[in-house]
Amino acid sequence: MNTFDALSLFSGGLDSILASKLMQSLGHKVLGLHFVSPFFGKPEQVPEWEREYGIPITTIDVGQEFVDLMAAFPPHGFGKVLNPCVDCKILMLRRAKKLLPVYEASYIISGEVLGQRPMSQRADTLNIIRNDADVREVLLRPLSAGLLPVTPMEESGLIDRAKLRSLVGRGRKGQYALAKELGVTKIPTQAGGCRLGERESARRYWPILRTFPKPLAPYFDLANVGRQLWRREADTVTGHWMVMGRDYRDNQKLLKLVSPEQYVFELKSFPGPSAVGVPIPGLNWTDEILAEAAACLASFSPKARMHGDAVEVSIERHGAERIISVRPDRPHGFEDNLTWPQTRAQQKIWERTLAEI
Ligand code: SF4
Repeated sequence: MNTFDALSLFSGGLDSILASKLMQSLGHKVLGLHFVSPFFGKPEQVPEWEREYGIPITTIDVGQEFVDLMAAFPPHGFGKVLNPCVDCKILMLRRAKKLLPVYEASYIISGEVLGQRPMSQRADTLNIIRNDADVREVLLRPLSAGLLPVTPMEESGLIDRAKLRSLVGRGRKGQYALAKELGVTKIPTQAGGCRLGERESARRYWPILRTFPKPLAPYFDLANVGRQLWRREADTVTGHWMVMGRDYRDNQKLLKLVSPEQYVFELKSFPGPSAVGVPIPGLNWTDEILAEAAACLASFSPKARMHGDAVEVSIERHGAERIISVRPDRPHGFEDNLTWPQTRAQQKIWERTLAEI
C-alpha cells in the first residue's frame, strides 16, 4: 500500500483540484478521496482526472451511510432542495479521518472556500463542520487558510502558512489565477453534479425516504432511471413502486440494477418498456396489483395499445417467470410521483414534526 502525507476530499470540482495541487506543489504527497453514492460522484472519470491533474485518486463508496443519514433526517437540515450539505461534509471528513492511519497520512485537505456557499461555507458553518466531524487537529483548508485559525499542521512547521491562500467569496478570479500558477489548464465546469440539489431528482428520492422503513442505496440508483410510478388508492400512496424505462437505454440500465426479489415486467410480443416493481417489506404485490402494473406497462407501448385486445406480459421474480394477459390500461393505480412543490411541502412538514419532538 502506498503511503501519503495528506488525504484530499476530491469531488473533481475546481476547488478540490486546486487544494490538492497546491499541497502537491509544496512537496506533499496527496491522495484524492472521491466519494460516491447514488446522489453524487463520477467514478468513471477517476482515470482521466489522475492523468490530467497528476493526482492519485481512490474511490470511496458512502452510499448506504448517506442514505441512512437522509432517512433519519440530517441533523443540520436540508439546503434549498434535498441537499444536506453540512452533514454531507461531516460524513466525508469523518470517513477521511478514519482512513488517515490506513495511508499513514497526517492531515486532511478540503477545498472549501470561505463564504463561497450560503449553507456550508460560512465561517460559523465551517467551524461546526470541523468540530462535529472531530477533525480540528487534522483538517486543512488551503484555499482559505490565511483567513482561518492556524492549524496544528502549520504550528508544527509541517506546512508553511505563508504559502497557503486567502480566497473568499463567490467570485472565481482567485481560483483562476491559482489554476494558472499551478499549471491547471483544464478547468471543470462549475456545476457540482450533485443530484440532491436538483428538484427533479428530489421528487424521485422523496417517496422512497418516506415509504421504506429502511431504504437501501440501490433503491436510489433505480430512482435515477426512467419513470417513477407509485400506486395510489383514493389519493393515498399504497407503497407499491414501479420504475419503468422510457427508452432502450433506460430498459438496459434497469435490467442491470434489478435484484432477485424485485419483479421484472416485460411485454411478450410487442416492443415496449421494461419495468421493475420494488417490494417493500410487509407489503404484498397481490395478483390484482401485479395485473394493474402489467396493464400500466402495456399502456406505454403504442403497438400493444393499437392491438386492441389483451396482450401478454411476462413477470419474473427470483428467476421464475409467469405470464399474464392484460388489456393496456391506466385508469387508476400507478401514477407519476409527486410534483416538486408537493415534495417540498411534505419535506417542511417532516422538518417541523421532528423539530417538535
Ligand atoms: S452538494 Fe451534494 S455532495 Fe456537495 S456537499 Fe451538498 S450534499 Fe454533499
